[in-house]
Amino acid sequence: MKSLELYLSYRCDQKCIFCSEKSRMQKYGHKQPSQKELLAIMIGKRKEGYEHITFVGGEPTIHPDFIKILSAAKRLKYKTLLITDGQKLSQWGFALETLPWLDELVFSLHGPIPEIHDALTQRTGSFERQMRAMDFVEKIRREPFYFTSTVLTRLNFPHLESLVDLVCARPGAKGCLISNLTPNEDDPVGLYSEQAVRLNLLSKTFSKLINIARNQGKNIRFLGFPACALGRAREFSADCQEDFPLDVERMVRDSGLELEDSRQYGPRRSRFFPAVCGSCAWAGKRCMGILRAYYDHFGGLELAPIEGSVLGEHSHAV
Ligand code: SF4
Repeated sequence: MKSLELYLSYRCDQKCIFCSEKSRMQKYGHKQPSQKELLAIMIGKRKEGYEHITFVGGEPTIHPDFIKILSAAKRLKYKTLLITDGQKLSQWGFALETLPWLDELVFSLHGPIPEIHDALTQRTGSFERQMRAMDFVEKIRREPFYFTSTVLTRLNFPHLESLVDLVCARPGAKGCLISNLTPNEDDPVGLYSEQAVRLNLLSKTFSKLINIARNQGKNIRFLGFPACALGRAREFSADCQEDFPLDVERMVRDSGLELEDSRQYGPRRSRFFPAVCGSCAWAGKRCMGILRAYYDHFGGLELAPIEGSVLGEHSHAV
């Protein structure tokens, strides 16, 4: 299915310490695309065969015309996905107006308790509001409907089992996505080197997370990690899909600020294949390599090429 990522807003009321969009939000925060501009893009892309829209930001629900834009997308027969910090959905009226237009929903949840989540979002009360939003969604949709998305840091790594436990026990949750930390474009090493979790620690913990999710009949996926570092969890990697969405966002061009198609983020963002990947059966097929910032800071000794074919492989596990 051809899909778009539409950047609705470059503002956000949270200040997540790992935010990879900081510089773009500083550049464009004052200028969000208008409803008219977005409608024109959605109509044009629908004619080009796009069928799925992910609304992203910043925080997309901050856009003053968010509900009108979302409902227009649905009327154009797009499948709609919202990725949100959940703060506005903690208002009952907003949740009631939004939910009928959504096909999929992802909450950004970074810890199982306020002390972890709020420390990472740097906004007091954000965990509590997000839990309230989940309660509201469960009342309105009455079926498993949302996923959570967690950016892995050293702060939440020791609490991942509690987090997956918490999410998978909720009736409205379909599952969890755990994403690798990516460096901010303006600060490629500083915070990243403090918060990046070493690859050799992942496979044991991720294996436990898979068991927790399976026991509750829920899904779990891992995004942005070198496959060889995941052990048996590599089968749950979300890097393997063939088509990644096209981003439509605001950029500076000669003519001024324009909404344009741009690069594809996906799991390829800032990743590469060092020499060790040369003999790996998964390279470029089911693994998109290692983050350059990780490699530059910690080296590549934790990588171990996977032998065999993509389907029938055996590996030198990390
Ligand atoms: S060796 Fe390289 S290509 Fe192979 S799984 Fe590891 S990071 Fe990916």
